Amino acid sequence: IQFADLNLDKNILSALQSAGYHSPTPIQMQAIPAALADKDIMASAQTGSGKTAAFLLPSLQKIIKRSEKPGKGPRVLVLTPTRELAAQVEKNAQIYANNMKWVRTVTLVGGSSFGQQIKMLSRPIDVIVATPGRLMDHMRSGRIDFERLEVLILDEADRMLDMGFIDDIETIVAATPEDRQTLLFSATWDGAVGKLARKLTKNPEIIEI
Ligand code: AMP
Repeated sequence: IQFADLNLDKNILSALQSAGYHSPTPIQMQAIPAALADKDIMASAQTGSGKTAAFLLPSLQKIIKRSEKPGKGPRVLVLTPTRELAAQVEKNAQIYANNMKWVRTVTLVGGSSFGQQIKMLSRPIDVIVATPGRLMDHMRSGRIDFERLEVLILDEADRMLDMGFIDDIETIVAATPEDRQTLLFSATWDGAVGKLARKLTKNPEIIEI
């Protein structure tokens, strides 16, 4: 199976070709068709599995279509446990959206200039990549409008809970539309993370690699 068999947009396919990707990894083969079919996903996936592209490619494909909702808020939100992971996700998003220069991605993590982030948030946004704490800071001051949000992604959900982000995640999720798509990636679904996943998803596709 090739990326070309997955019904991805030609702009995404050519970006993958430029990046030297030939065939999808097992998690990408399973997650991309499910996500493009608007399904929620609970995927067990480790770093190195290609999980980042598994959630970014179908999400980018969604935002190629014009938003049906008004506003300037993000259409895709990726939550990660750490700044380092957020930076990796942003880097990947730039590679995959290389032929879609209009896509605006904003990364909101601690340790970076608050003022700079506020400036970025004043313009329309397609994708936000954030750690929960810094996103909450911006939400408290009313700078994030989730009315347009179509896809919510939790990357390394188990690690986010281990780091004590459960309350922040619950608050963030409560601010997003009910009819969003939810894509969850975690090394395990044992305990609290499984409970959270069942709460956030509707009839999810379970993917185990
Ligand atoms: P991840 O598990 O998302 O951290 O990805 C691990 C590494 O594999 C990253 O450097 C990706 O750029 C790369 N990668 C992801 N998917 C593919 C693919 N289908 N073909 C080649 N490299 C890939």
